[in-house]
Amino acid sequence: MSTVNKTAHAFDKARLDALLNRRFFYAPAFEIYGGVAGLYDYGPPGSSLQANIISEWRRHFIVEESMLELDTTIMTPAPVFESSGHVARFADWMVKDSGNGEVLRADHLVKNVLEARLEGDREARGAAPVAAAADEKKKKKKQAKSTAVKLDDAVVAEYESILAQLDNYTGPELGGLMRTHTITNPSSGNPVGEPQQFNLMFASSIGPTGQHPGFLRPETAQGHFLNFSRLLEFNNGRVPFASAQVGRAFRNEISPRAGLIRVREFTMAEIEHFVDPLDKSHPRFAEVADVELVLLDKYVQAAGQSTTRVMTVGAAVADGVIANETLGYFVARIYAFLLHIGIDPARLRFRQHMANEMAHYAADCWDAEIQNSVGGWTECVGCADRAAYDLSVHAAATKQSLVVREALKEPVVEERAVAEWDKKALGKAFKGDAGAVTSAVEALDEAGLMRLKGELAQGSATIKTAAGKEFTLEPTMLAIERKTFKTFVREYVPNVIEPSFGVGRILYCLLEHSFWSREQDVDRGVLSLPAVVAPTKVLIVPLSARAEFDPLVKEVSLRLRKAGVHARVDDSNTSIGKRYSRNDELGTPFGVTLDFASVQNRTMTLRERDTMDQRIGAIDDVLGAVVALVQGAITWEEACARLPRYDGVQAVE
Ligand code: AMP
Repeated sequence: MSTVNKTAHAFDKARLDALLNRRFFYAPAFEIYGGVAGLYDYGPPGSSLQANIISEWRRHFIVEESMLELDTTIMTPAPVFESSGHVARFADWMVKDSGNGEVLRADHLVKNVLEARLEGDREARGAAPVAAAADEKKKKKKQAKSTAVKLDDAVVAEYESILAQLDNYTGPELGGLMRTHTITNPSSGNPVGEPQQFNLMFASSIGPTGQHPGFLRPETAQGHFLNFSRLLEFNNGRVPFASAQVGRAFRNEISPRAGLIRVREFTMAEIEHFVDPLDKSHPRFAEVADVELVLLDKYVQAAGQSTTRVMTVGAAVADGVIANETLGYFVARIYAFLLHIGIDPARLRFRQHMANEMAHYAADCWDAEIQNSVGGWTECVGCADRAAYDLSVHAAATKQSLVVREALKEPVVEERAVAEWDKKALGKAFKGDAGAVTSAVEALDEAGLMRLKGELAQGSATIKTAAGKEFTLEPTMLAIERKTFKTFVREYVPNVIEPSFGVGRILYCLLEHSFWSREQDVDRGVLSLPAVVAPTKVLIVPLSARAEFDPLVKEVSLRLRKAGVHARVDDSNTSIGKRYSRNDELGTPFGVTLDFASVQNRTMTLRERDTMDQRIGAIDDVLGAVVALVQGAITWEEACARLPRYDGVQAVE
């Protein structure tokens, strides 16, 4: 796309919201019933934009890496989430206003109040608010009712340190912060109670009698893990491979007030990449090793800072900043995807999870955070190395073996101690307890068995069963021998690298990053969406509604349709300029105009949205250029080399 100064007018959140609402990108669901916080419906341009983002996601990940696509159910029986740990732990900390009972998310309360105080301090010192976040600050200030009050330098440093590691605090620690820093509910001024855990899953029940408790899934991931054996078989028993799924997820967020950034029902796109725990190299790592990323690592945050550094993925993996090649590969691929759909690289960073923030089993986790005026730096994609946790817990709960069996080229030969039993003597001595005794001996490791052998050589040995009962073993009952074993198959639980995308968050950030307005037409915004994701690619504008234009309009529409280009005709009764600017608001990157010269000479003009530059050429040439532009085969500059500039007014009769 062409380069244009998109900062012509400072970002104005109220104008963007008005545009998104007016042009029905999305709107509160059940609006005429008063709406429900955190539930939104997407209208025509929003739905198309989302579908196009998903389609690019499928191309970039599923097609590019031959991933195995899934579509698993949303309604999930409770035992699945008991095993996965969601029933016990998928919770946020909330606090209750002691006066009016209002419920607030504990970490958000601390964040909003401290940020408002810091903003008040900045104002008192006469400093301007941080430009990109000015709206957010204004809103928080309003919510938190803070005024321009200068803080001690030490207090500023302490607040900044708390904010840098906010995600690392436990509930009781958040409670402690609220007491230490006298944090109350900004909207009422009342103190709040101790943080309580609130499980975010929507509970339901399956079947008419309600005998099967269930939940709406809060992520699509479990559907991948539960189908692991089938996927492995589909992949001819080979690892690594990845499964991928785009689908709805549900989270009963405590008090969602952040538009699409925090909702209760949203579309996720998730990948589970299954890999050998002993070999997390990636065959395509070299392709991304030179990609430079902005990283915020866990050590910097734990030190109370938010200083980022730029590193290549290759260096980050080599230095152990990112745990392994496969994780690094996906971080780089996520970066490429986000840039491809139009996210501003200057407002994108990767933040590593701190120790408390990360699940205990995870080896490493990085969030792609995108800066926006609503949530500041917001996690839009999580990318975690979840080790063997998920498959292990489901295998243990279901007694199904969720493992990879790999034929070894060379058998592994090893010598091991084993117990050889005299079953008769055993049965006679221990009767009903014989099974428990053998199990206890077989559970011993090599060292334990050798110790037992030594004791038996002395005359007898004592063994404790799992139930805690002790029995005396004698040499007549068993002998411990070292034997040679040959193993032809290696069996292991694969590890999982999980990139998890929130489509709505990405979509909203993209809208913010694409939005600007021209000096000469501040009221109408422009969405500079890349053609790959723009809801409509080409606007067809007949100069007049007269019947003689109809055959040409039909022809151009049909030819674009045949080329797979989504085009729309705007034959409304307003000026061409208005029609174009209405479509700038929808992010339509190109417009073609049919005028009287088109009817007479078969020429057509082509307009580019961001520069408003207009070119002219034969209809065939313009169509050829516009199709190539939409497909990304040529740049606007290349199109300009093919088509001369058009400076004139549209030809009229
Ligand atoms: P998580 O499983 O919590 O790491 O979430 C995965 C992704 O889902 C995040 O990176 C977000 O993009 C998205 N996400 C999580 N919660 C919400 C929410 N309440 N509203 C919108 N997107 C969300």
